[in-house]
Amino acid sequence: MDDKVIKTANKEAAQVLEWGESRGIETCFSRAEKLKSCPIGESGACCKVCHMGPCRLVGKNAEEEVHGICGASLPVIAARNLARMVAAGTACHGDHGRDMVFTLLAVANGETKDFQIKDVKKLYKVAGILGIEFEGRPVNDAAKDVALRFLEDFGRQRGEVNYIKRAPKKTQERWKKFGIIPRGVDREIAEVLDRTTMGMDADADSILTHALRAALANGWGGSMISTDITDILFGTPGPVKAEASLGIFKDDEVNLVIHGHEPTLAEMIVDVVYEPEMIAYAKSKGAKGINLGGMCCTANEVMMRHGIPTAGGFTNQELGIMTGLIEAMVVDVQCIMPALAQLSKKFHTKVITTSEKVKIPGATHVQFDEHRAKEIAREIVRTAIDNFPNRKTEGSHITEKFPVIAGFSQEYIEYMQGGRWRASFRPLNDAIMAGRIRGVVGLAGCDNPRVPATGIHKFLATELIKNDVLVVSTGCSSASCGTAGFLTPEMALEHAGPGLREVCVAIGIPPILHLGACVDNTRILTIASAMAEEGGLSDEIGGMPAVGIAPEFITEKAISIGCYFAASGVPVIFGGESPVGASKEVTKIMTEVWFERFMGALHFEPDPEKILAMALNYIDKAREALKLRKYEPGKFGAERVLMDMAARRILEKAAAPHAGVGGINEAGS
Ligand code: SF4
Ligand code: SF4
Repeated sequence: MDDKVIKTANKEAAQVLEWGESRGIETCFSRAEKLKSCPIGESGACCKVCHMGPCRLVGKNAEEEVHGICGASLPVIAARNLARMVAAGTACHGDHGRDMVFTLLAVANGETKDFQIKDVKKLYKVAGILGIEFEGRPVNDAAKDVALRFLEDFGRQRGEVNYIKRAPKKTQERWKKFGIIPRGVDREIAEVLDRTTMGMDADADSILTHALRAALANGWGGSMISTDITDILFGTPGPVKAEASLGIFKDDEVNLVIHGHEPTLAEMIVDVVYEPEMIAYAKSKGAKGINLGGMCCTANEVMMRHGIPTAGGFTNQELGIMTGLIEAMVVDVQCIMPALAQLSKKFHTKVITTSEKVKIPGATHVQFDEHRAKEIAREIVRTAIDNFPNRKTEGSHITEKFPVIAGFSQEYIEYMQGGRWRASFRPLNDAIMAGRIRGVVGLAGCDNPRVPATGIHKFLATELIKNDVLVVSTGCSSASCGTAGFLTPEMALEHAGPGLREVCVAIGIPPILHLGACVDNTRILTIASAMAEEGGLSDEIGGMPAVGIAPEFITEKAISIGCYFAASGVPVIFGGESPVGASKEVTKIMTEVWFERFMGALHFEPDPEKILAMALNYIDKAREALKLRKYEPGKFGAERVLMDMAARRILEKAAAPHAGVGGINEAGS
C-alpha cells in the first residue's frame, strides 16, 4: 500500500510540489505539516482580548465551570471569537466594495480616462433599484449618484443598507423581527469590536445575533456593491471559454500573473498586454509574446469577463512560482501569502505589490492609483518583460491544462432560460419542482493545505452532480473544479445524474456554473431572491432546496460569508474543525436556533461524506416541506454512457473524499 501523504488532490500541483520538496523548498504544505494547530484556539476556547489573559478555558466541564479572569464563560468567549472573525471578513469585503465605489466615482467625475462604464444597462438596473432617476440624464451623472448613494452604505449610522430591499419580503421580515438589518458596513464592524471587548456583551446569543448583522452588511452591502460596480465598469459576465491549470504558463512567452481579489488594476493589465507596442517590446527581449494568467479571485474576475486562464486557487500561488516560468506575480489584496517574496528569490520571479494595504518585505512595490491606471499597468508589464531574459532553466514545467466555461452571472442565467424577451427563472424552478434537479448547492471558499487541497471540492462537486444537484461555484472552489477539468458541459454528459444532465443538455450549460469571485457569492443571494419571486418554490430564501458548502474554508471572509448565507435562510456547511467547537451552546445557537429564526444554519463538519449526506438531507427535507415531488434518482432522462476509458476509471474507483475523485490517489495507487 502506498502510504504517501496526499497534500494536494490536484495532479499538476502535486507534480510541482514533489519537484520542490525534492529540492528542500518550503511551501504552505510543508509548513502545515510542521505547524500543528493549537486545539484550544482552534475550537474557540482561548480569549486574548485583554491583558489579564490569554485565558484558555479547558478541562472537564469547562463550558459550565471554567471562566476567564474577568468571569467570561466559554460560550461568550467562543461567540466573541467568531464575531470578530465575521467583523474582519466583512471589513475585507467592505473595503473591496468601497474601493470599487471610489473607482466608479472617479469615472463619473471624469477623473480617470482609463476606465469607462462598459455596462450602461446594468448601471440603469442598479439605479432603478436605488430609486435614482436615469432616463434622459447623462450616463456619468447617474453613475455619480449611484456611487454617492453606495458610499452612504459604508458610513450610515442609522437606517438600512440600500440593498436590503432586494431580499424577498419574508426574509426582510425575519431580519426585522430579530433586529439584524444592518445600518452601515463600518457601523456594524465597529460594533462587533466594541461589543466583544473585555467587560462588554456577556450573552453568547446576543453577540452572535450582532455577528449576523455585521455579516449581512457584507452580503447585502460591501460584497453586493462590489459585484454590481464591477459589472457596471467592466461588463456583466456571459459564458466565456478559458483554461485552468499550473500548465497555463508558456515556455517561450513572458508569463505575468495577477493574483489577489480586486479587478481594477487587473483590467488595465488585460488591456495593456494586447497593445502592439507591448508585444513588440516583449519580442525585442526574445519572447514570442505575453501570456497573462490569474490566481485566486483576481483570476476569477478576469476569467469571467475576458477568458484569462487561471493557474489555480490559494494553495497554487507558491507552486506557480516554482514552475520557474513566471516573470512577475502582481498582487493586489487578500490571500497573498507573505511567503511569496522569499520564495521568489530562489527563482527569477518578481513579486510586485500594488496596494497601500499590502506590503511585503522583499517584494517590489508599485503603488496602484486609478487616476493613472494604464500608466501603472504599462510599468508593471514592462517590468515583467524586462525580467524575461533572466529566466533560468530550473523549475517544474507542467503542460497539462483543462478547458473551462465560466461567466455565469445572474443576468446570463436568466437569459439562458428564456432569451432576451422571456428571461426568467421559470425553467429552473420547474425543473426543481419536478425533481429533475434535486436542489442547488453553492460550492464556495478556499482550498486548504491542511487537507489534501482541492480534494474535498472535487469530491463534493462530483457527488452532488451525480445526485442531480446543480452546483454553482465561486472563489477557489471554482479554481479547484476548473483545474480538475470539471467546468465544462461534457462534465454533465459524463458525470451528472440523468435529470440534471437533461436540463444541462437542453440549455447547453455545465452542471457546475462558475459564478465568479468570492464577492460574487452575492450573485447566489440575488439568484435565490429571483427564484423566490418566480414562484413555485419557497417565497423567501429560507426553505429553498438549497445549501451552501465551503469544504476547505480558511479565511475570516469565508466565516462572514457563511454567516450572511445562514442569516439569509441558507443552511451552510463548512469543512474542517469548528472554530466554536469548544462550546455546545454556541454550536446549538448557530445550528438549531438560527434555523428556527432564519431557516439557515452554520455547521462545521470535517468528514466530507457527512457533509454530502447533510447537504442532501437538507435539500430533501426542504423539498418535503414545500410539498414538491419526492426526488427519485434516475426518474428522468436515460442513462447515456459516453465516457472514455479514463473517465470510466475515475468513476469506477470508489470516490475518495480525502483525495478527490481522480486526485493524486490515481497516480499514487
Ligand atoms: S477578557 Fe476575560 S477571558 Fe478574555 S483575556 Fe481578558 S480576562 Fe481573560
Ligand atoms: S476562496 Fe478563500 S483562499 Fe480563495 S481567494 Fe477566496 S478567500 Fe482567498
